[in-house]
Amino acid sequence: MGYAQVRSVALSGVVGEVIVVEADVAPGLPSLVVSGLPDAALSEARDRIRAAVHNSGGSWPQQRITVNLLPAHLRKHGSGFDAAMALAVLAAGAGLPIGRLADAVVLGELGLDGTVRPVRGVLPAVLAASRAGVGAAVVPLANVAEARLVPGVEVRAADSLGRIIGYLHGTEHLLDPAPGTSVPEPPPLDLADVLGQERGRRVIELAAAGRHHVAMFGPPGAGKTMLAHRLPGILPPLGDEEAIEATALHSVAGTLPPGSGLIRRPPLQSPHHTASVAALVGGGSGLARPGAISLAHNGVLFLDECAEFQPGALDALRQPLEEGRIRLRRASGETVYPARMQLVMAANPCPCARLPHLCQCPSVVRRRYLGRLSGPLMDRVDLQVDLDPVRSAALVDTEVVEPSEVVAKRVAEARGIAAERWKPWAKANAEAPGHVVRQHRMRLPRPVLRPLVQAVDRGRMSARGFERCVRVAWTMADLDGRAAPDAGDVAEALQMRSRSSR
Ligand SMILES: [Zn+2]
Repeated sequence: MGYAQVRSVALSGVVGEVIVVEADVAPGLPSLVVSGLPDAALSEARDRIRAAVHNSGGSWPQQRITVNLLPAHLRKHGSGFDAAMALAVLAAGAGLPIGRLADAVVLGELGLDGTVRPVRGVLPAVLAASRAGVGAAVVPLANVAEARLVPGVEVRAADSLGRIIGYLHGTEHLLDPAPGTSVPEPPPLDLADVLGQERGRRVIELAAAGRHHVAMFGPPGAGKTMLAHRLPGILPPLGDEEAIEATALHSVAGTLPPGSGLIRRPPLQSPHHTASVAALVGGGSGLARPGAISLAHNGVLFLDECAEFQPGALDALRQPLEEGRIRLRRASGETVYPARMQLVMAANPCPCARLPHLCQCPSVVRRRYLGRLSGPLMDRVDLQVDLDPVRSAALVDTEVVEPSEVVAKRVAEARGIAAERWKPWAKANAEAPGHVVRQHRMRLPRPVLRPLVQAVDRGRMSARGFERCVRVAWTMADLDGRAAPDAGDVAEALQMRSRSSR
């Protein structure tokens, strides 16, 4: 008979909150009641925990047991509280001394045999513990590398409930495996592989330097996919906070390779065009999994053959492009995941995907094909270009091609200039708010803007398109190290949006 409490962490999206698992054991018919807004997985946990305790040599109290998870208002998903619940029950009903867990959170699912199984979201959970001032964490062995990415928390691992019980009795140690050599990220694909295609290289460099969304149209062989896959390699590496955000999302999704460190290179996600809306935006029972849009957070979302995606999937992009996050509304409540990604789209100009001189599709078919890309979506894409197939001359002439390393340096310098200019409103040109772009100090003189003014006057461009062209022109000036865009930049920016004017 008695009462005990053990701390754990509940996640809502990638936001964790330290919770208290309390257990009360009182005389009465043997039973176990779990309260505190448990979802289906928690109800199932009852049988699992009981079996795990039996198979770990613990004695399950044959009394009336109440387990409560606090605070009650918080939704608790998944099986990550199993270990904490088992320990609280044993402490309340069987006198297990839990003093050594006073400053710790316990994370982990229990197998029926008493093993402690890995759970999703350990990184954000330990981060939440750290922010709440908790000094230690007991985590599943398979999650130890991930948990250690959070500085300032003493991380210990357990492979079984029996080991934690032994540790609390002072007869066993928790595991403290030597840090393995973290698996290095594979080297990025290099722009030096892209021969010819000067326009494509230019557009990808502009996209990187200004954080502009891009759409590339062209026949197979134009190098659209090659270019898209080389964008992360010329983007600046993620800062500490961005790296933790990206890694936390992959942790919750369960896509973090074991032993990997923080994600430092902007992630690239390229879902197939048959991907469901749920695969793009996220979902699933229990703790919702982030979709490709969120796994591309702080990185690149590449939609190859974008005209082939379901219209619903493309519509789902609008909210994250606008707000930088995605809200998943489900019966069990709303989950919000960050989704601030750079969009790269590629498409053949027509459904037959043949070279232009071989295409026999009627013009109405061609128009309808790209017409699937909706106006509001394309309106947010600053760079929309047609790419021609690479000519054989470019493949034969072994010219020296600039590698990613050189381009990345230029991009980093341009980003630095832009971040300084838009401080504190934005870090990149594509994100600068309209009212700031129009401010006196940043406003471009009328003669410089003439080509754009004409395009608007002739109804070939929207007001939003006008501002996007101005942002691209700033990126051109930044890459060149000039103080402000000139008429040439504006004309080129207009050309880089040629698609929308057709
Ligand atoms: Zn065709």
